[in-house]
Amino acid sequence: MSEESVLEKLRAGARKFQAEVYAKNAEHYQRAASTPQAPHTLIISCADSRVDVEAITSSGPGQVFVTRNVGNMAPPYSGTPGGVTAVIEYAVAALKVKHVVVCGHSDCGAMKALLHPPATDNLPTVRYWLHHGQAALMVAESMAHKDEPQIDKLKRLTEENVLMQLVHLKTHPSVAGAMARGELTMSGWVYDIGSGVVRIAEEGHRDFIPVTVGAGAKA
Ligand SMILES: [Zn+2]
Repeated sequence: MSEESVLEKLRAGARKFQAEVYAKNAEHYQRAASTPQAPHTLIISCADSRVDVEAITSSGPGQVFVTRNVGNMAPPYSGTPGGVTAVIEYAVAALKVKHVVVCGHSDCGAMKALLHPPATDNLPTVRYWLHHGQAALMVAESMAHKDEPQIDKLKRLTEENVLMQLVHLKTHPSVAGAMARGELTMSGWVYDIGSGVVRIAEEGHRDFIPVTVGAGAKA
């Protein structure tokens, strides 16, 4: 697809949005435009184009504050300003979200690259960024069974990486403070692209429990 035709495709998408989605919910969008945003949740997800966090949480405008990066990393607080750190601080200290989600997913290229470092030989920035998953890799490797299939290794690392990013999150002063005051909770998610199923590990738990349709609402 040529560059121009991609832009044309994007224009067509913007037209379709205006004509269909916006037109149907115009009042909602107009209200959102004149009301300060008050999202209830910060979601840190992978940048993977198949992970549509608004869709998988059935969220509309104003409900979730989202940051996406390669491998859904939440770097530990270091005092050095960074994009993800700024998002976390703004979401927690200014917007006062009530919950933080770290959302990993199946078939994650970042997790595969952690398991197979040569994949980032020509991607020095990606390789550097992935060091935020190094501790998770070490944990996952220490837990692996002998002759574990690659697919199981990938699943384990994906989960351990989500859990490790939750640990990192707690090093951020805004997060630590809000949690200590009982104003903030967090959970780790793994989204399965093929089945649409989200599995959630609640704060303090290591098991990822599938959210099943018809299982009833849990507040
Ligand atoms: Zn990914």
